[in-house]
Amino acid sequence: MSEVLSRSTADLYRSLIAQTSTVVADRFASVTRPASGASRAELQRLVDDVDLDGAGVGTPDAIREIDELFLEHAVWFHHPAYAAHLNCPVVLPAVAAEAVLAAVNTSVDTYDQSAIGTLMERRLIDWASGLAGFDHGDGVFTSGGTQSNLHALFLAREAALAGIDAPRSTAIASLVVLATASSHFSVAKSALLLALADDAVIAVEDDGEGRMDADALDSALRRAAASGRLPMAVVATAGTTDRGVIDPVGAIAAVCDAHDVWLHVDAAYGCGLLVSPRHRPLLAGIERARSITVDFHKSFFQPVSSSALLVREPRDLAAGAWHADYLNPADSEEPNQVDKSLQTTRRFDALKLWVTLRALGADGIGDMFDTVLDLAAAVSDEVAADPELELVGRTQLSTVLFRVLPGAGPEVQDALVAQVRRVLFESGRALVAKTVIDGRPCLKLTLLNPETTLEDVRAILAMVKDAAAALAGMDPDLDDILVGSEASV
Ligand SMILES: *Cc1c(COP(=O)(O)O)cnc(C)c1O
Repeated sequence: MSEVLSRSTADLYRSLIAQTSTVVADRFASVTRPASGASRAELQRLVDDVDLDGAGVGTPDAIREIDELFLEHAVWFHHPAYAAHLNCPVVLPAVAAEAVLAAVNTSVDTYDQSAIGTLMERRLIDWASGLAGFDHGDGVFTSGGTQSNLHALFLAREAALAGIDAPRSTAIASLVVLATASSHFSVAKSALLLALADDAVIAVEDDGEGRMDADALDSALRRAAASGRLPMAVVATAGTTDRGVIDPVGAIAAVCDAHDVWLHVDAAYGCGLLVSPRHRPLLAGIERARSITVDFHKSFFQPVSSSALLVREPRDLAAGAWHADYLNPADSEEPNQVDKSLQTTRRFDALKLWVTLRALGADGIGDMFDTVLDLAAAVSDEVAADPELELVGRTQLSTVLFRVLPGAGPEVQDALVAQVRRVLFESGRALVAKTVIDGRPCLKLTLLNPETTLEDVRAILAMVKDAAAALAGMDPDLDDILVGSEASV
């Protein structure tokens, strides 16, 4: 029998999804650490051993196989000892909706491939741009913050070029983008992809804690103009990836308005504040942006991918429209979202957010984000008060940056960062990240799980301290950390 999902296989689909969800549910019910801790050599061997050229084993067996292969060795973002990157645990309504959109396989590039799907996505875009404070905004779902930032900067580039009376290639070479050194790397990467000059991204000074200094922005814009460059966009970050701090968007918007420059706000991380009952004011001024990146797969607890680019002026999106006779001819009267997107075939990710809002309400999501903000504040206090740890800066969102063993001196501290992270990673018992702040390495916790308690984070910090002490030649034994005991996390 064919394995295509159709009328004739509807019952097979029912039992397959039941079998699959049982396999996954069993894992969620039994996982005791965020990763298996298997070595890369071991994982490589498991992957290489699978015969991809042989005859098929049938779907039930193939699913059983990935239980042992993938689920056994997956990295679990819902586990309270997962505190590395900006990955959230996902809410059930979104996971259920993911199953729906995978089965129907709607593509929201044109109206005739999606019909009501396009209308639902557009309604959500209206909803999200309304939250941001745009009166009649527009936008489109994207694959992630990286794509949203690229798209925004592309639109900004086209708007800037439209105002320059010179050949494109000459004009492009004069364009600059201003952002702090803490802005996401996709800003610099977008500048490369958009063929801007090598020196096109200008680092604006910050306040010493990673937030853009609006006066320094004003000076930088003046300097750029004086040296014959045309500022094409200012990128303010509403939630930097490492420090979790928010550029003063209102003050930056005032400077951008005075210089008539496009303001893009990268709220990939901080977008959860849009629905936060208690912390929405942190985004004050965002309504003055010309474009905004939001990553629902970061702070709206959505499965990857779910992201959007929002624009204040709907006509700005037109710069990316391209017409194909077979798909979206210029004379089409249908609402084809492909006219607004960098992608053609595109997932109906909006369905996940739709079901989430209906199931939990916007406040429900905002409360979850507020909970992780509270947790991060409490963890920061603990780290600051712990003589074995050193807090590096204060977050406005949910990261905690720190170093171990303040008494050991900077060189030992710096060397321990990568070693501690690796020891924990190899144990599979806790996952933390590392980064560099003001030229020095530090450890990073990214807290995005509203079910994680202060006790859970204390357990991670205890492992960090044990690992640091062992690595620095003090007690306890490293083997204890690598093997762990049943009683701990
Ligand atoms: C994560 C992040 C991005 C990139 O988003 P992806 O969804 O990973 O592509 C952009 N900007 C900021 C501030 C981020 O934290």
